[in-house]
Amino acid sequence: MDEATAKQRMAELQQQLERYNEEYYVQDAPSVTDYEYDMLLRELETLEQQYPQFAAADSPTKHVGGAASRTFEKVPHTVQMMSLQDVFSYEEMNAFVQKCQEELENPEFSVEPKIDGLSVSLEYTNGVFTRGSTRGDGFVGEDVTANLMTIANIPKKLEHAPAFLEVRGEVYMPRKSFAALVEQQELNGETPAKNPRNAAAGSLRQKNAVVTAQRSLDIWIFNIQQIDGEILSEHIESLEYLRKLGFPTVIPHSKPLRTAEEIRAEIAAIGEAKLHYAYDTDGVVVKVNSFAQREEMGATSKVPKWAAAFKFPPEEKETTLREIQLSVGRTGVITPVAIFDPVQLAGTEVARATLHNQDFITERDIRLGDTIVVRKAGEIIPEVLRVKCHAEGALPYQLPNACPVCHTQAVRDPEEAAIRCPNPDCPAQLMKRMIHFVSKDAMNIDGLGPQNLAALQENGLVHSVADLYSLKKK
Ligand code: NAD
Repeated sequence: MDEATAKQRMAELQQQLERYNEEYYVQDAPSVTDYEYDMLLRELETLEQQYPQFAAADSPTKHVGGAASRTFEKVPHTVQMMSLQDVFSYEEMNAFVQKCQEELENPEFSVEPKIDGLSVSLEYTNGVFTRGSTRGDGFVGEDVTANLMTIANIPKKLEHAPAFLEVRGEVYMPRKSFAALVEQQELNGETPAKNPRNAAAGSLRQKNAVVTAQRSLDIWIFNIQQIDGEILSEHIESLEYLRKLGFPTVIPHSKPLRTAEEIRAEIAAIGEAKLHYAYDTDGVVVKVNSFAQREEMGATSKVPKWAAAFKFPPEEKETTLREIQLSVGRTGVITPVAIFDPVQLAGTEVARATLHNQDFITERDIRLGDTIVVRKAGEIIPEVLRVKCHAEGALPYQLPNACPVCHTQAVRDPEEAAIRCPNPDCPAQLMKRMIHFVSKDAMNIDGLGPQNLAALQENGLVHSVADLYSLKKK
């Protein structure tokens, strides 16, 4: 690449990455996957090493993404909330370990899951939780104390606490809560959250803490930022101390590790185990255990030099889109569902994924017969990421403008992305309403599952939920 081309590409990448930062950190609505983002950042880093004369002082490689929004009071961080350097292979992790070994005397490492949520700081004065904030740009965050107060696992009062304590943790949305949220958003005809990380960020950064309270967020604490009244010298020891104070802390490998081989084995073990976690894990963080040795290594403007995050590669599969089925929900929302050749994803066979609405299909230009790329969001909800290539002769797909079941003309509220069947007597809506009505979350009626309900409806015995109460035994 010649100098002029490199300069132009670097400017392009910087602009693109800043746009993605704004979408991700400020709007909580990314338009590209984390992996795509990470690869573009890597490309910019490599070009900046080759052509340092063109590297901008405010490059996204040098600062933590995201600025505090005006919706919240600003909180200056006494201790900078940094990001982490990424590695994408065992070779790169080995190089990190080797660098630490060269610079430090017999370093020990803590190896722990990297939770995919958003970073927060919690401050305790004389054991009382007084303030909580987001990371923001690392120097100034947002005051989200009221929202954090709604998270049950955050201790509000500590026994035997030091005079002052600031801890750092990751707020996340458990996969189950994410699945329930997406289901509810689809029922309401809203654009569903993309993944648990964005759902957690959007839920925590709500002006109204009542909304946050409804989202079942949780937290793992992974660091002491400041402490006054207790002397600790190692990371694993400090996590044990926090656990005793009542914090839910990330659980590192029970003993510190010393060699690249041991670290590799632990990363592989977490890679296997993460499928069964109740939350998303996007990698493994390897950290120097001794605080004194951390001081020795120092930091860049963005990341500490004593830690590295091994990022798991995304599990994506290619398959063929065979059909688009239309499903009518209990509120009449008509949802297109992709039916594709089965693939194995995150431990199960997957053959269908929601396509949400016409906008989703149009943005990705999804056509029947296309080769598509699928994955599981939050390792739980199958999704169509993009089209790899169109099927020959395939035309852009347009949702029909009538209900597929009762054939009533469908309507689209200009405020919503979804189309709806407006017929309250639509048999498909009635069936979904009855299934919901008898379910555990509602009336919890034993022995009345979808099959029996379908038989009752087919035989003309129920035309409304109320009819369930006038059925005769025979
Ligand atoms: P990061 O998420 O890669 O790593 C740093 C974060 O990890 C810390 O802020 C911390 O909160 C968290 N973390 C979780 N568990 C931890 C543990 N056990 N120990 C220490 N830290 C732990 O970096 P980032 O700066 O927060 O975000 C950058 C990443 O966000 C990118 O690499 C990309 O994956 C994603 N991103 C995506 C887009 C997009 O458009 N898709 C845009 C911007 C950023």
